Amino acid sequence: KRLLCKSCGLGTLLVAVVWLLALLFYSHSLRSSIRSAGWRIDEGNATPRAELSYQARVTVGCTPNASITTGESPAAPKPPSDPEQLELLGVVRNKQDKYIRDIGYKHHAFNALVSNNIGLFRAIPDTRHKVCDRQETTEAENLPQASIVMCFYNEHKMTLMRSIKTVLERTPSYLLREIILVDDHSDLPELEFHLHGDLRARLKYDNLRYIKNEQREGLIRSRVIGAREAVGDVLVFLDSHIEVNQQWLEPLLRLIKSENATLAVPVIDLINADTFEYTPSPLVRGGFNWGLHFRWENLPEGTLKVPEDFRGPFRSPTMAGGLFAVNRKYFQHLGEYDMAMDIWGGENIEISFRAWQCGGAIKIVPCSRVGHIFRKRRPYTSPDGANTMLKNSLRLAHVWMDQYKDYYLKHEKVPKTYDYGDISDRLKLRERLQCRDFAWYLKNVYPELHVPGEESKKSAAAPIFQPWHSRKRNYVDTFQLRLTGTELCAAVVAPKVKGFWKKGSSLQLQTCRRTPNQLWYETEKAEIVLDKLLCLEASGDAQVTVNKCHEMLGDQQWRHTRNANS
Ligand code: UDP
Ligand code: MN
Repeated sequence: KRLLCKSCGLGTLLVAVVWLLALLFYSHSLRSSIRSAGWRIDEGNATPRAELSYQARVTVGCTPNASITTGESPAAPKPPSDPEQLELLGVVRNKQDKYIRDIGYKHHAFNALVSNNIGLFRAIPDTRHKVCDRQETTEAENLPQASIVMCFYNEHKMTLMRSIKTVLERTPSYLLREIILVDDHSDLPELEFHLHGDLRARLKYDNLRYIKNEQREGLIRSRVIGAREAVGDVLVFLDSHIEVNQQWLEPLLRLIKSENATLAVPVIDLINADTFEYTPSPLVRGGFNWGLHFRWENLPEGTLKVPEDFRGPFRSPTMAGGLFAVNRKYFQHLGEYDMAMDIWGGENIEISFRAWQCGGAIKIVPCSRVGHIFRKRRPYTSPDGANTMLKNSLRLAHVWMDQYKDYYLKHEKVPKTYDYGDISDRLKLRERLQCRDFAWYLKNVYPELHVPGEESKKSAAAPIFQPWHSRKRNYVDTFQLRLTGTELCAAVVAPKVKGFWKKGSSLQLQTCRRTPNQLWYETEKAEIVLDKLLCLEASGDAQVTVNKCHEMLGDQQWRHTRNANS
């Protein structure tokens, strides 16, 4: 039934039995050892739960997804990104656990209990495509050296430390010039003592530099503050809740070495905010809508024809913003960031337009993978409560978009009098760098974008994939399955179990309403997804049900025709 697992047949049955027995045994021993293990919430060196998770599991002789290799030998232990193991790490056993989890959600919008229990470091699946180069680089390759700039504001301590630790563990030391932490005036007490010297010793890394802002600056100015301190050839900006994957840096440096005006962006894999499960993201690129909101979209049709194409890199009209590498001198030449932009938002679109319009490029490097915790909400506000995204977007629209800014102003219904500050310096920059106009950008970099009033492009952007399934739902991209000529829609009418629709529920017809049980979206792999991670599936007995998305296509891949008039 499953496309990529044809040969498994009998073998699977056998393995399944062995596997079940093993699972029974080990979940029992896991639970009892968890109970007996002394708890240390604070320390990352050795968390008992994380160690326990290194239980070998029988490896099925058929990789679940041909495009994703684990990079680990069959005998290697399953990483604690395994859902069952992670579930155990999240078990609340006492008041303290509950406190950690609840306060964690409040301050960080993710499950801090699981993060603590994972500890400083864990194995994660190697999510690179099999065509990616896995040879260790040597100093002879003469790649440029990287300075990591990591800004944070009230980051969860273990998560922050793990972000740094993964860089240290998965980066050849001769490629790493330094790590610069910019503490954006955090006021969480637990971050205080740890970040002065102590952290350097804990992580056994001397080139860890720490800057604390005297006042809250926001991520945009903080990055520039960090970048101005850096001395490495290449700047790499990273969020403070990430885990870099194997050989993440080399392909970025390689690209920048050969194209020094290219901003190199890794694929941002998903770390689930509730479970910390690490899963691959599909190959998508960055776009935006006329509200100047970043969005993911499919690669242009025909980009991926042969396996080698999965090596990329791919041109991308915009970048998500959190993670990218850039030649340090080029970043300066390009005008860093707009220092009058506050706190969060818009700067990624701004640097995207600026890079393309001023002679640079943005490329996604699929063989570089960095996991990022996608949260459902941002757990902080700006100091004065202002909508910084609006101000920042206005600045970028007025500097870079020429007459096209009107589409933004109309789309967001911005009051004419809204004060976005003085942009004369940025206009001078545009002049000095002799940048191209926005019409050029649209024509040459993002011809797929629909311009209001213009006829639809024939190669319109393919269905949008949102890598953060559970993040803000983009209802624009969802659709209903309405039975032609009726007011009836395909719906899942089933109880929710742990926040999910019951797996295996079949579809029913219901009066059309835009309720979550009727809203679907299509992924780039032609899966049809309902709400969180449930995929439309052809089940054995000629039924259509929803089931956990297995990403193996086959019984979860749907072809459909669009009927524009119904
Ligand atoms: N950040 C910061 N100062 C701020 C807001 C954010 O230093 O005022 C940091 C934050 O800790 C994170 C990075 O900037 O490391 C990006 O912010 P966030 O993760 O909230 O953005 P998202 O990933 O949701 O776009
Ligand atoms: Mn982030």
